[in-house]
Amino acid sequence: MANTAKILLIEDEKNICNFIERILAPQGYQVFSAFTGREGLEQINTLRPDLILLDLGLPDIDGISIIEQVRGWSSTPIIVVSARTMEKSKVTALDLGADDYITKPFGTAELMARIRTALRHRQNQNAYPNKRYEVEDLVIDFERRLVKLKGQEIHLTQIEYKLVSLLAQNAGRVMTYESIISKIWGPYADNDNQILRVNMAHIRRKLEENPAEPRYIFTEIGVGYRMREE
Ligand code: CA
Repeated sequence: MANTAKILLIEDEKNICNFIERILAPQGYQVFSAFTGREGLEQINTLRPDLILLDLGLPDIDGISIIEQVRGWSSTPIIVVSARTMEKSKVTALDLGADDYITKPFGTAELMARIRTALRHRQNQNAYPNKRYEVEDLVIDFERRLVKLKGQEIHLTQIEYKLVSLLAQNAGRVMTYESIISKIWGPYADNDNQILRVNMAHIRRKLEENPAEPRYIFTEIGVGYRMREE
């Protein structure tokens, strides 16, 4: 897809707006800015952007409540731009339907990668799910429920397989602990990360050469997990 996507930036710090515009405009993206939440909501309505970059700390409306309002009627990808001091709201934002987050200060490459991933996932969302995941030595064949590492079949328990395929189908995106738990163990599951952590430790022992320095499944501290994108 050509980068003609419309990106709406809702951010009250002008220097961050300028920085992001300088990165995105040369890539061909059409960038629009709103400096308050109210302005942002208006522009979402009139512009129908393809992607929203949303600062959580806005002067008038809380970014979190913008996500709630937008998710009531639109599935436009939202990437939260958060300050380090807002770790907790980051998780809330993701659980309310934000697609991803990026923490200030961030670099050009990181921002571009996040945007590409969010746009691509949104494009594919109504298509058939991926049939295969392949990164370096790891191959997952979703139709045959097979996981191979360096050509060798890896035996996973049912829960482990469900976890790996959930993360792989969402490769590149962060999945919060809560969203993973509710998708694997159901919405009424005990929201205790322990069982998830134990399963992830087992999975890493099977898939990662060095579980302390994973190549495929990364921990987003305090938030969840992100599987490496193809
Ligand atoms: Ca702000």
